[in-house]
Amino acid sequence: MQVLSVTPEIFPLIKTGGLADVTGALPVALNALGVRTRSLVPGYPVVMGALKKKKALHQYTALQGGKAALHAAEIGDLDMLVLDAPHLFDRPGGPYGDATGADWQDNWRRFAALGRVGADIAAGALKDYRPDIVHAHDWQSAMTLAYMRYGEAAKVPSVMTVHNLAFQGQFGASIFSGLGLPQQAMALDGIEYYGGVGFLKAGLQAAWAITTVSPTYAQEIRTPAFGMGLDGLINLRAAALHGIVNGIDVDIWNPDADAHLAAGYSAKALKARKANKRAIEERMTLDRDDGPIYCVVSRLTWQKGIDILASIIDPVIASGARLAILGSGDAGLEGALLAAAARHRGRVGVVIGYDEGLSHLLQGGADGILIPSRFEPCGLTQLYGLRYGCVPIVARTGGLADTVIDANEAAVSAGVATGFQFAPENAGDFHHAILRANALYGDPAAWASLQRQGMKADVSWDRSAQKYAALYRMLLSKRDA
Ligand code: ADP
Repeated sequence: MQVLSVTPEIFPLIKTGGLADVTGALPVALNALGVRTRSLVPGYPVVMGALKKKKALHQYTALQGGKAALHAAEIGDLDMLVLDAPHLFDRPGGPYGDATGADWQDNWRRFAALGRVGADIAAGALKDYRPDIVHAHDWQSAMTLAYMRYGEAAKVPSVMTVHNLAFQGQFGASIFSGLGLPQQAMALDGIEYYGGVGFLKAGLQAAWAITTVSPTYAQEIRTPAFGMGLDGLINLRAAALHGIVNGIDVDIWNPDADAHLAAGYSAKALKARKANKRAIEERMTLDRDDGPIYCVVSRLTWQKGIDILASIIDPVIASGARLAILGSGDAGLEGALLAAAARHRGRVGVVIGYDEGLSHLLQGGADGILIPSRFEPCGLTQLYGLRYGCVPIVARTGGLADTVIDANEAAVSAGVATGFQFAPENAGDFHHAILRANALYGDPAAWASLQRQGMKADVSWDRSAQKYAALYRMLLSKRDA
């Protein structure tokens, strides 16, 4: 089976969030199951820089206003097709905007081009390669499925994965003429969305199957509270909707062999974590003591509930805990956290920025990780936390609800608990969950049992990859029926 994965981000080359982790790891896990996955990615400068030898498989004389070429590349374990289109992708800044964070004005053009090329490949544009299945990730790739539907690849089964429904790729109606789609596509059951054009919406309409990254989120997005305006459409397509929890790369995230840690450790030798805790204290100028350190590794946004965290920092510090926070995002939230660090010197450490190494150290040395998200399609940091014995304290929503077992009395006495859950958007319940964690932390045997139970959880890609493979097989039998 050959699968074409179309994605705007792929770890380790280009990453703004969990999507990149998924698209970087899933192909490797699928390959192990005999599902050959190739990834089509935009040729951003970092991606072009990683190409060792360029071999154009296909050329475009005019793709959304410029010349383009498609290169094959093997980078690490990844088999990639890179879309080299300098007029669209060769620019400084992030994948979607400039260094100030402002979106590129021509994002519709950039990701329409990615979709166009994905659909061309599905239709057989390459001499020696034709995928059996096309798998698109998020709005940036969603137009692939629309071009397939209205073009020559309508009979190729497709999957649309929603990593976060908040990001939809909505544009004004005026761009429609630039997409090169037949007029019939600008319809309610096509790409039209509230009078404009919706890329994700188009993908959700066209996909043979829709997946999202946890079963709970799959149910949540059918409601107005989580549906972001698309709940009606998602309900119409409920029969095609699946929830598959993400895995993590257990080689990159391995506490026993992680170069970012001061000391490696396993579930059998948890005491060695202490050296990492000491390293965090050094790095984040925290007092040295034996009370709990709770970390945060997150985009600093409303979605992640960072405002809720900021609102309870004073009582949390008063309870004896320390906080080690790594993140970047909303300027107001960054300011609130820095102010808390200034108020609580030695008790609250804040690093604003993106630091992969520090994120590993925090998971490897902090006692718990706080994840107060308002919604969380899957969430990866709680999975890293489980694997690293960094006990997750999470809002009961989306993938967080699916992957953490709350340490209520019954679960603790049965020895199955792996973390703490609380009601989302509720500062009081969040604070209470931290106090519950403090109390259990005071019982070292009970805490270690929580850590070990989490470290035993299967968070690898194997299980998830098997579910994707089963979904692909189901779609192939549908095609053949
Ligand atoms: P989302 O994709 O919504 O941001 P996830 O939990 O699914 O949230 O994935 C976030 C990923 O980004 C994780 O791999 C996490 O470790 C990483 N991450 C987030 N913020 C930072 C940061 N400031 N420094 C390093 N890694 C970060």
